[in-house]
Amino acid sequence: MTLDVLANFIDGQYCPPVNGHYIDNIEPATGQVYGQVPNSDDADVEKAISAAQRALPAWQTMPLEQRADILYAIAKGIEARLAELALAEATDNGKPVTLATNVDIPRAASNFKFFAHACTQFASESHNMASTAVNYTLRQPLGIVACISPWNLPLYLFTWKIAPALAAGNCVIAKPSEVTPKTAAMLGEICHVAGLPAGVLNILHGSGTSAGSAICNHPEVKAVSFTGGTATGAAIASQLAPKFKKLSLELGGKNPALIFADCDFEQTVEEVFRASFANQGQICLCASRLYIERSIYEKFKQALIAKAKALQPADPLLADTQMGALVSKPHMEKVMHFIDLAREEGGNVLVGGEQVQLAGRCENGYFLQPTIIEGLANSATCNQQEIFGPVITLQPFDSDEEGLALANDSQYGLASTIWTTNLSRAHRLSERLNTGIVWINCWLLRDLRTPFGGMNHSGVGREGGEEAMRFFTEPKNVCVKY
Ligand code: NAD
Repeated sequence: MTLDVLANFIDGQYCPPVNGHYIDNIEPATGQVYGQVPNSDDADVEKAISAAQRALPAWQTMPLEQRADILYAIAKGIEARLAELALAEATDNGKPVTLATNVDIPRAASNFKFFAHACTQFASESHNMASTAVNYTLRQPLGIVACISPWNLPLYLFTWKIAPALAAGNCVIAKPSEVTPKTAAMLGEICHVAGLPAGVLNILHGSGTSAGSAICNHPEVKAVSFTGGTATGAAIASQLAPKFKKLSLELGGKNPALIFADCDFEQTVEEVFRASFANQGQICLCASRLYIERSIYEKFKQALIAKAKALQPADPLLADTQMGALVSKPHMEKVMHFIDLAREEGGNVLVGGEQVQLAGRCENGYFLQPTIIEGLANSATCNQQEIFGPVITLQPFDSDEEGLALANDSQYGLASTIWTTNLSRAHRLSERLNTGIVWINCWLLRDLRTPFGGMNHSGVGREGGEEAMRFFTEPKNVCVKY
């Protein structure tokens, strides 16, 4: 087998890392090395910064409609290569190719379409001081910015940052996760074909400690938009705080689902199951702590168990696969460690909890059964720490207040869901849930105009719509006396 050797995309061209260093890229479904990823460092960052500096004056002064046309053409380029990108994403990440085809890649295209429109609609404020003066606020591009993304939704989250950064008139140095670099590498060519001028977007590969840190710390990088783990976010924030860079952090979650006896039972089972195990539970928004009103606890539990037993992990590249592989061996071992801890802390594993060995091509892949655990205290490790795998815990509750208190008993604050037909209760609880996003009777229903992000250890700042356009611009107020 010939290895798929990836390259950085700098100044509109693919180029090898200056240091010649590479990291193995492993296919999670087979456990086999199938490619190599540059492990870039300061030297590559310098090249990318020089290219971005050359490109910046023309890009930030380009008429908005022309900039929007280019972003729209990138979206069309992604759509034109849907099947190829979906296959690459499934191979790289282990997610079902059907999921990549229906969700990840179309959403990457939507990100560019959305911000192509957003930049033509983005307006700034003016404040009139009666008979005295008028203030108007300019929102100007920051210059060169960094976009750093994780492995779970590779192209989806990469483009969710890059599209608004470009739309706002910045040049970008972007780094995908070294664990899932393939579709990000392909994006360079798509942008080139779409007419994005050389140097406006530079895609560097490599580990966080080498490439990621070099990008974030470069003095010419004015802002960092980061999505990833909470510990990494803390490390980046502590490095960048004294440098006064703008920072947006989208971090981990431990998302509660509050399920009431008056919910639409069948629909709730269906949706909560999807919220728990989509993408093998590796979505920052996945429900992981399920609180179920006591009167329906047993019935709801049995319905979830039946669905979990029916969901068998399989080769992600097969069209009918609903559950693929976990992203890597270390990640699978981490998830298994949490399940062991749950057992030690008194949890009862109702279903799953074991690795699955498939036959044939995938015999060495990283597959895990959907896992449901009950009997753990809310203070148990598996109820407090992010597992980021196909593992959920169940707990009964008896009143709105108790459910709310359990849901809010967390250092995280990303997303929550409420399942009830009593809408006044849903509104009341939404106000008091400590999460940046609340979904009522749905999950992952996204309107790209809305603020997206978490509170507490789930992050700082919001992405999406105006929030992203504001993050990627510097406001400057001009006061004119009459
Ligand atoms: P990670 O923190 O290990 O890595 C994320 C990215 O940061 C990667 O590209 C990595 O190379 C880079 N990185 C690592 N150390 C760095 C450093 N010191 N400086 C600069 N860059 C560095 O996270 P992961 O394991 O790839 O992703 C899983 C995590 O991401 C989970 O915690 C999940 O909840 C979180 N996540 C959050 C959201 C959200 O929107 N809140 C979305 C998806 C994933």
